Amino acid sequence: MNPTFNINVAIIGGGIAGLWLLARLHERGYSALLIEGDRLGAGQTICAQGIIHSGAKYTLHGQSSESAEAMAGMPALWRRCLKGEGEIDLRNAWMLTEHQHLWTTRAPVSRLAAFFASKLMRSRMEKIAAQKTDEIPPALRHPKFDGVIYRLDEPVLNVASVLNTLAKRYHPAIVLNGGPVVLKADGTLTLHYPQQPLWIIRPSVTVFTAGAGNTGLPWATLQLRPLHMVMARGVNLPGPLYAHCLGASDLPRLTVTSHYDAGGRLIWYLGGALAEEGVNRDRPAQIRAARRELQALLPWVDWNPVEFATFTIQRAEAHQHGGGRPAAPSVFRDGRVIAAWPTKLAMAPLLAEQIEEVLRTLGVQPRLIGLDPLAAWPRPELAVYPWDREDMEWS
Ligand SMILES: Cc1cc2nc3c(=O)[nH]c(=O)nc-3n(C[C@H](O)[C@H](O)[C@H](O)COP(=O)(O)OP(=O)(O)OC[C@H]3O[C@@H](n4cnc5c(N)ncnc54)[C@H](O)[C@@H]3O)c2cc1C
Repeated sequence: MNPTFNINVAIIGGGIAGLWLLARLHERGYSALLIEGDRLGAGQTICAQGIIHSGAKYTLHGQSSESAEAMAGMPALWRRCLKGEGEIDLRNAWMLTEHQHLWTTRAPVSRLAAFFASKLMRSRMEKIAAQKTDEIPPALRHPKFDGVIYRLDEPVLNVASVLNTLAKRYHPAIVLNGGPVVLKADGTLTLHYPQQPLWIIRPSVTVFTAGAGNTGLPWATLQLRPLHMVMARGVNLPGPLYAHCLGASDLPRLTVTSHYDAGGRLIWYLGGALAEEGVNRDRPAQIRAARRELQALLPWVDWNPVEFATFTIQRAEAHQHGGGRPAAPSVFRDGRVIAAWPTKLAMAPLLAEQIEEVLRTLGVQPRLIGLDPLAAWPRPELAVYPWDREDMEWS
């Protein structure tokens, strides 16, 4: 007979949703095992810009929204965890910046959108006076800059440091599965790996947090929304920038975050409308579009020597009529099987809270068990940032 593990919860998929859930359940005394099929964070999480949204970008049309409400508490929650004072100890992870910025162009629509958002987000969005030059990001500190800058209460995380912290702390409860996940009608799962004995996992509840891998569950359908992200590198980049630039629509025209590659080089990671609209462009056209945007928005920088790379990626979320972004995390249940999507990395803690609530309603009693018998089982590595991928083509 194959060895069997009886546990409270099996979690399928180790992006931010699965890892945060694993952490929360362990802290609450549940036995949980996270089963990853590739690398931790290999789907969307390692490609996230790492912004812990406070909701500002969801108020740009002048009305507070369900999304903005759902996100309002997220910066404070993450900051508490990073200080070791929250529900999960993230003291070994770090922020890239405490505050994201938002800047407008000279265009009246851009200024108006920011003005309305600032009224709604009074405590979370503060205008920076033009004379306070030391508070202005270096890239925007130029005599030709003629927009308005706001400081947002939105930290930006070093995402790999978060994944690494969670992976190390909960290492015994994270395993690599070498085959497809087959959930049998009796609720059991089988762990496979070459040269390892088969293990039968018998969880009280199974949670799918596999992002785009949450498939084949007719009661929980997903939608995929593509992005064509751009990365820029080169000594001409005018320092790190973490900012949304507002255009005419309710979506930022450009969202820039800054990162350092394995060789210590500064990378500008570009999202926003450029990435949303870029899904209709091929790689050369997307690079031309990125150059045009940067030239238009920051004309005092010489963009010629800057190198670019692009890649497309799908955001995986619960299906919505009309295909828009869900306002909040999504949790679906069929008997003792749950499928969940956080919608945003920032909202992974909310998702874990909601799943724990479902466990309570199902009467799952927390019971920790020793995971020593799995000590020799292979563990997944951490995913690689897009700017460090060897297959990335820069030009
Ligand atoms: C380009 C981009 C930028 C973003 N920027 C931000 C941002 O700045 N702020 C923010 O809050 N959100 C951001 N998001 C959204 C955020 O990244 C996602 O909401 C979040 O990472 C989803 O996490 P997840 O754990 O559900 O899924 P994923 O990160 O996709 O993780 C799924 C995991 O499941 C594993 N898996 C898949 N199938 C199986 C299987 N059959 N068996 C076992 N394991 C499996 C995968 O290998 C992976 O590790 C961004 C998304 C994208 C694409």
